Amino acid sequence: MNQTSPTEHDHNQCIHNAISAAEHLCRQRGVQLTPIRHKVLELILTSHKAVKAYDLLDQIKPVNDAAKPATVYRALDFLLEQGLIHRVESLNAFVGCHRSGTQHDQLLLICSVCHDIEERPATQVIQALAAELSTARFTAQRKTIEIHGLCEKCQTFN
Ligand SMILES: [Zn+2]
Ligand SMILES: [Zn+2]
Ligand SMILES: [Zn+2]
Repeated sequence: MNQTSPTEHDHNQCIHNAISAAEHLCRQRGVQLTPIRHKVLELILTSHKAVKAYDLLDQIKPVNDAAKPATVYRALDFLLEQGLIHRVESLNAFVGCHRSGTQHDQLLLICSVCHDIEERPATQVIQALAAELSTARFTAQRKTIEIHGLCEKCQTFN
């Protein structure tokens, strides 16, 4: 479960791990990972790239004709709520979480060449941020740190 780097790794294994973690988590929490929620999660986990809601709709249509936009949005809300996916604010898109099951703030490293997103634990960054927020007497409702740049792989190829 530590494999969060989108660079060289067995992505099938990676998808498998994330799906079984999600199934386990939902069972544990007594919430339903319905077929549509499962499908949306699977589609998001297909890659480490951000997926937009309308792309999901396009991909879901052929497999589930009854899937309406509202159904997909509700599935996304559920997955966000359960921490199985994250919202990528700067891209207005979603990415799968590979550390679900742990309460965590994340640092998203977004490659502008291959579009892979690497999720890093942001413990120290968040600690520093918390200190600053407290000085400013500001109550944070959402903390997402997104960095756009070049991943290791793309730096070597360019
Ligand atoms: Zn992977
Ligand atoms: Zn995560
Ligand atoms: Zn890259």
